[in-house]
Amino acid sequence: HAVDLSGRVAIVTGANSGIGRGIALVLAAAGARVVVNHRPNEDSARRGAEVVQEIVSAGGQAVAAPADISSEDDVEHLFRLASDHFQTVDILVNNAGIEQPAAIQDMTLAQWQKVIDTNLTGQFLCARAAARMFLSRSTPPPAGEAAGKIIFISSVHEVIPWAFQANYAASKGGVSLLMQSLAQELAPMKIRVNSVAPGAIRTPINAPAWNTPDSMKELLKLIPYGRIGEPEDVARAVAWLASDDSDYVTGTTLFVDGGMTLYPEFRGAG
Ligand code: NAD
Repeated sequence: HAVDLSGRVAIVTGANSGIGRGIALVLAAAGARVVVNHRPNEDSARRGAEVVQEIVSAGGQAVAAPADISSEDDVEHLFRLASDHFQTVDILVNNAGIEQPAAIQDMTLAQWQKVIDTNLTGQFLCARAAARMFLSRSTPPPAGEAAGKIIFISSVHEVIPWAFQANYAASKGGVSLLMQSLAQELAPMKIRVNSVAPGAIRTPINAPAWNTPDSMKELLKLIPYGRIGEPEDVARAVAWLASDDSDYVTGTTLFVDGGMTLYPEFRGAG
C-alpha cells in the first residue's frame, strides 16, 4: 500500500531544488501538508513558490518559508511560520546542503565554515527546533505512532572519504553521529531520528558528474545498479521513514545509492 501521511505537517529544508523539491512533492502526494523552505533570495523564492504551486495544483497543501538554516534567528522564524500556518509540525526533513570543493592546501577558512555552518550546524539548529516542538506537546502519541520524526539527508560521504571535499565529508560524517546521538537521546520520548544517505542523484549540486556522456560513463563505474539516482528515489525512502510504517526504526542510516557503498571496484577482483 502507499505510504499515508494524511494530516501530518512536514518541514523540508532546501525544498526549492533537487532532492528537497522531490521530497516535498512526494510527501505532499502522500497527504502531508508541506512547509517548503528556501533560502531568502529572489531566485530561491521563485523556485520555492513554484514547488508550492505544483503541490497546490495537485490538490495538496503547502506554504513557502524563507530561512537561511545556518541562522539561528531564521530557523526560529521558520518553525514559528510552520506552526502559525499549520498549527504544528510532525516531520522535519533536514535536506538543505552545499558543496565548496577545494584542495586542502587551498581551502579557505570561509569555505570550511560555510559548509559546516550549512550541512552540520544548520541541521543541528533545525533538529533542535523540531525536538523542542515535539517535546512541547501535551498529549502522548497513540500506540504505533511517534511524537515526531526527524530525517537527516546525509550522503554516502558519511562513510566514503572524499578527496578535495574534506569540508563536505567532515560535515556528513558529523551528521551521522549527530543523528545517532539524537536518536539515542530522544527515543524514550518517542521521537524517531534517522538518516537517508543518497549516492549520486541527478540534481544541480553535482551536474558536472553527470551532464556530459564522458562524466556519466565514469560515474556509472561507481554504481553497481547501473543508473544514476533520481530525487524520487530518495523521496520515497524519506516518505517511508516519515510514516508510521517504519515505527520501530530509529537511529539508522538508509543508503539510497544503487550500491555505491559496496566497493564496486572489488567485483571481479577475486
Ligand atoms: P541542490 O543544490 O539542488 O539543493 C540544495 C538545496 O539546499 C537548495 O535548494 C539550496 O538553496 C538549499 N540551501 C543551501 N544552503 C541553504 C541554507 N543555508 N538555508 C536554506 N537552504 C539552503 O542539491 P541536492 O542534490 O538536492 O542536495 C540536497 C541534499 O542532498 C544536500 O544535503 C546534499 O548534500 C545531499 N546529497 C545530494 C547528493 C546528490 O548526488 N545530489 C548525494 C548525496 C547527498
